[in-house]
Amino acid sequence: MRGMSIVHLVSVSGGKDSTATLLVAIALHGLENVIAVFADTGNEHEATYAFVQYLTSTLGVRLVVVKADLSGEFAAKRINLARIAAGEPESAVYGKRQFKYAWTPEAAERALELLHPTGNPFLDLCMVRGGFPSRKRQFCTEYLKRNPLTEYAMSLIEQGNAVWSWQGVRADESPSRARLPSFEVVGGGLFIHRPILRWNVADVFEAHREGGIEPNPLYLQGMARVGCMPCINSSKAELRAIAQRFPEHVARIAEWERLVQSVTRPFSPATFFHGNTTNEVGAGVIKVIDWAQTTRGGRQRDLLAVLDEPTACSSVHGLCE
Ligand code: SF4
Repeated sequence: MRGMSIVHLVSVSGGKDSTATLLVAIALHGLENVIAVFADTGNEHEATYAFVQYLTSTLGVRLVVVKADLSGEFAAKRINLARIAAGEPESAVYGKRQFKYAWTPEAAERALELLHPTGNPFLDLCMVRGGFPSRKRQFCTEYLKRNPLTEYAMSLIEQGNAVWSWQGVRADESPSRARLPSFEVVGGGLFIHRPILRWNVADVFEAHREGGIEPNPLYLQGMARVGCMPCINSSKAELRAIAQRFPEHVARIAEWERLVQSVTRPFSPATFFHGNTTNEVGAGVIKVIDWAQTTRGGRQRDLLAVLDEPTACSSVHGLCE
């Protein structure tokens, strides 16, 4: 009788750590036992999509792309909005919970016209949640990455496999990551393996070199992390780099803000960046990007930063050496 087979499932994000993790998994277990899985948030830079294709095709490893499906949430929200549009009080629809901003029948009717899935997971999530995620309510990671990845792992287990879920995290990134074990038995056929927990950044790029893989080019363009473009947690310096190099992504986010606001409770400040970013509630992405180009203390533009040559390599990982 054949034993249960083990699938080594490596979640790749297009970033350096998950790339190194994939290289380790293949070196230890062979191409035939490894699957790279990419959770497409719909808010990635085109260079990241291209990198994931380049990485997996160069290595010859199987790539599975997973995406959150929010059609059920849209259907539920439409039912609720239809009830409010028909004149039912909000408390009858959502219970006695207190909301800072209230739906009116007119606003609910307008929202119903526009509230349809676009097929972009990030945008769809914000439309059904009635706002953008924030550091405190970071529902993007859960809905767009963790849930689709877990569902895929579970489907492999249901097919009779044991799954090792490989995670490319490093202890020196944060105290909470430093506390993680390198191996965990989750149960039900699922295991978590973190093979590069004790590595530093130099080790990670060394693994790229040894594996014959070029790092994601975004690292050479001022991005400290490769994830969403932009991430809701982007630093001021990253926002400045984004403003200079990727204005088309800023324009896309401004358009998303307009769309999300049109299906959100009246007067709610549905902005991509949380009010804490600039200390101004309701500051849209254009305003935040403008703020990112000023020095912290005053309204004066940081001329040196603006004049920074956009094509210069500003990698914080010392890749230019
Ligand atoms: S990269 Fe940022 S915006 Fe994207 S899912 Fe993660 S926390 Fe959310």
